[in-house]
Amino acid sequence: MGYNNVVMKRIYLDHAATTPLHSQALQKMLPYFQEGYGNPDSPHFEGRKGMAAVDFARDLLAEKLNAKPSEIYFTSGGTEADNWALRGGAYAMRAQGKNRVLISSIEHHAVIAAGERLRAEGFIVDYIPVNRQGIVEEETLEKMLDKDTGLVAVMTANNETGAIQPIAALCKRAHEYGALFFTDAVQAAAHLSIDTKALGVDMLAISAHKFYGPKGVGALYIKAGTKMQGLIVGGEQERGLRGGTTAVPLVVGMAEAFSLNEGGKSALKEKIAGLRAAFFAALGREGITVNGNEGGLEGILNLRVEGVPNVDLVYAADLEGVSVSAGAACASNSVKPSHVLLAMGLSEEEAKECVRISFGEGNEEADVAAAGKILRGIIDRLRKKI
Ligand code: PLP
Repeated sequence: MGYNNVVMKRIYLDHAATTPLHSQALQKMLPYFQEGYGNPDSPHFEGRKGMAAVDFARDLLAEKLNAKPSEIYFTSGGTEADNWALRGGAYAMRAQGKNRVLISSIEHHAVIAAGERLRAEGFIVDYIPVNRQGIVEEETLEKMLDKDTGLVAVMTANNETGAIQPIAALCKRAHEYGALFFTDAVQAAAHLSIDTKALGVDMLAISAHKFYGPKGVGALYIKAGTKMQGLIVGGEQERGLRGGTTAVPLVVGMAEAFSLNEGGKSALKEKIAGLRAAFFAALGREGITVNGNEGGLEGILNLRVEGVPNVDLVYAADLEGVSVSAGAACASNSVKPSHVLLAMGLSEEEAKECVRISFGEGNEEADVAAAGKILRGIIDRLRKKI
């Protein structure tokens, strides 16, 4: 009998790629697919019902992010929020004579690709290096900042290594030079409490499917007074800055998931610490090094497995019921080494031996221990073959 996907118990260790929808969030969403179907911009009863749900979701999200409701703009996800922040921020600052954009070298492709497009449109775009731990140091940014810098983008925590960046300090430096500061908090939001005012940032992106919300919805926080153009033009939705009928069930689900996740963060952190320990106990450390992440997000573990190509390990693990990743989800089908690991100083060969394990709410210690054992078996087998 061959591989049977139906009877095999799966162990999902790829929560940084996406998370399952929380059932309570789903319950909140369901009414807005049918009886609460109104267009929130319509003035009649059905429309007002939709708008009430959207307003409630915006208020809840704003409260949890320590922002004003008017500073929250709904988007189709993290990618749109990242693109908007980069383009909106860069063009707003160009109008003030600042033509330079600084982007950390470990950003998600949504930020890097937006930056490369800005370069093609005449902006000067420079990448900020990171240290061996995958962290942007304050002094490194300080040396790069100049009067032409209009925008600085550094993510809150990295999606491949979990490395947490010193955002408040970096933001302060950028502001000293009159630059806007954007942080992609898409991965961080599932694990850390996000306080926009304490961070001091001008823009911040989140995406619901990383914190047990639905796919296809996110938000961009834009600090009051930041003069930004919209990215998607159309109707007057989102205070004229983001055209398109608001996806009522999705924003409702996002706000509920965010609120539930916020309430459970410290318990999740504790649980994940136990999961990591159980996983390592079963996997062992022989020939395995952890890339970066001292003091980073517990939920994300980037491992270099010496002598084992990551793509082989990911596919073999999948056949044995364990889902892990060779890097960011959008890049894991490509054989290119991770730009994040290269920026941290790994060689191309080393980077191709790295896998990402990301734990989440649905994992139990017995499962992650079983996964550790399965991975160890595969590693030993693959090493013998080479
Ligand atoms: N930014 C980071 C750090 C991410 O990890 C991701 C998703 O992988 C994104 C942005 C893109 O978000 P979305 O999938 O909602 O477009």
